[in-house]
Amino acid sequence: MNNLITKKTIIIGGGISGLVSAYSAIQSGSTVILYEKSNQLGGLIGTKYSENGLVEQAANGFLNSSSIEKLTKDLNLKLLKPESSSKKRRFFRNNKLHSLPISIFALLRGIFGFCFINSEPNLDENMQEWSQRIFGKDFTEFIIEPAIGGIYSTELELMYVPSVFSKFKFYNGKSLLRNLLFHFKNKKKEIKPNLRGLVSFQNGMQELIKGLHTYILNNSKSKIHLNSKISNLNHFLESNKNNEIRICTSLFETIELIKEWELAKEIFPKYDICSFSYQTICTITQFGMNTIFPYKAFGILFPRNQNLFVKGVLANHCIFKGRVKNLPYSETWIYSGDWLNDATETSVKEIFVKERNFLLSKLNKLRNNDPNRKIFLHDIHIKIWKNAFPIYNKNLYNFNNFLDEIEFICEQKGNPIRFYGNYRNGIGIRSLIENAMISR
Ligand SMILES: Cc1cc2nc3c(=O)[nH]c(=O)nc-3n(C[C@H](O)[C@H](O)[C@H](O)COP(=O)(O)OP(=O)(O)OC[C@H]3O[C@@H](n4cnc5c(N)ncnc54)[C@H](O)[C@@H]3O)c2cc1C
Repeated sequence: MNNLITKKTIIIGGGISGLVSAYSAIQSGSTVILYEKSNQLGGLIGTKYSENGLVEQAANGFLNSSSIEKLTKDLNLKLLKPESSSKKRRFFRNNKLHSLPISIFALLRGIFGFCFINSEPNLDENMQEWSQRIFGKDFTEFIIEPAIGGIYSTELELMYVPSVFSKFKFYNGKSLLRNLLFHFKNKKKEIKPNLRGLVSFQNGMQELIKGLHTYILNNSKSKIHLNSKISNLNHFLESNKNNEIRICTSLFETIELIKEWELAKEIFPKYDICSFSYQTICTITQFGMNTIFPYKAFGILFPRNQNLFVKGVLANHCIFKGRVKNLPYSETWIYSGDWLNDATETSVKEIFVKERNFLLSKLNKLRNNDPNRKIFLHDIHIKIWKNAFPIYNKNLYNFNNFLDEIEFICEQKGNPIRFYGNYRNGIGIRSLIENAMISR
């Protein structure tokens, strides 16, 4: 008789974590009820279609894996791979582009540290101290920080290594090389995906959101409630007893949600957690007749101290086919930092225009009076995401331990509650999808 009763999974949050959670719950035979506070699904992910091409509001692609290929096959979606000519990633230093922005000595120092220095993070070591100890100062400043900053948009000194590499085990005394070899030797053999590396969709990331939306709606008993903000977790849990609850909101929203929850209030004091810090991120996508890229490339990363605010620029016209119409070039500029908290679209645009003019002349030698210089100003799309990411620091690490304990207690009580999102086990969409697909 019991087998005839369908399990119910209640999901809070309709971003990629919530939608993939819903997909995986339906796959395992559950009925899903999803609550999304805004009037649309996707959360941080969203694609706008301008007359000149496609504008991604946040993510423009993600790393592929065999489980993602299975997901997209179930959703009838076709993955798009980047153009092969878009591989080049460059670093900007001293007004020039470099594939290797450091001296040969700094490179040798980095290789030495990678092969021989104990990589286990010390308890009070921030990521900058850890990286400088292992790779040396220059390697850290000009390679590690811009590369990590390109993903986490945060300065290394604010980050904590176990929080960033939460799935990676560092063994005492072992170098990073030996840890990596050990990690890959013991990792479960994964089926290789057909397409390796970065992927997206012909019509942008919105295709994935639409595909998941349709999949959930096609399951006749499952429901999506838009404009439905869940505020009081005590009441919500009381009225959803015996169902599995999956909380798939950002860290900022998760804290809002659980701060009055009785169980959380009981356990929280045990953990050494101070206040949380968040990162504001801004993307500016523009279309135009010129580009700062002197050749076909993926993008440029900017180390600190180059007198620029920008953290990275993507060459959209090179990465995925069909991203531009009418005008030949499109770039996405990424800004982050505390200064953005008080910034307006107008103030960010001023900085962008100034920095872009500077880079046009430095990298592409476009003269000030070149008629093509002004044309790019016609089509600019600015999006500021407040509190988009947490800072991956020690607080976040402790907070995740706290959530693990909550999940364990709820499981024991027979009322499973699970937390998913970019503050749990990785920031990228691939990690989010894979975590949401595994029933923990
Ligand atoms: C500028 C930028 C660029 C990025 N680029 C990439 C990239 O190229 N590749 C990559 O892999 N990743 C990228 N990322 C990261 C990735 O996009 C995010 O980590 C991911 O989209 C987060 O998804 P999520 O579902 O966990 O959270 P969110 O997208 O934040 O979704 C949470 C959802 O929950 C809803 N919600 C919140 N509170 C409640 C409540 N109380 N009740 C009901 N609903 C609620 C929200 O409205 C939202 O829809 C980028 C992120 C940014 C900001």
